Amino acid sequence: MLIHGSCHCRNLTFELTWEPDPAEIPARACDCSFCTKHGGVWTSNPRGTLTVSVEQPSLVSKYAFGTNTAVFHICSRCGIVPVVTSDIDHQLYAVVNVNTFNNVAPSLVRRAPISLDDENVESRLARRKRGWIAKVAYVERGT
Ligand SMILES: [Zn+2]
Repeated sequence: MLIHGSCHCRNLTFELTWEPDPAEIPARACDCSFCTKHGGVWTSNPRGTLTVSVEQPSLVSKYAFGTNTAVFHICSRCGIVPVVTSDIDHQLYAVVNVNTFNNVAPSLVRRAPISLDDENVESRLARRKRGWIAKVAYVERGT
């Protein structure tokens, strides 16, 4: 399956491969205040390949908070947050927001709440290495 996603104005788009075709897509509704306020519900396939394309990088705000180990890519034109990345040992990992999918039936997405408040940095990075998308290309096309 090739999943297409984007922010609302399509300044930031992505394509995610998911092989074999998923019977369901597990999604984590993070209960932190940022994800609650932005509708951040995240999924990843550690064997998937993600390509993120940005038309106008000057219109993407990169926001980090808390442990400062993840970067939220926010389209500053339309306010949507399609992607989070984390640079761990010089490799880029990512998760994508199921609320920004364009070609996936909502019934395929299984949403579950998650709370990560009690996680320390070490276990957080280890979890991302295990579960986040490890093949990530981030392409900035314009300025
Ligand atoms: Zn946008």
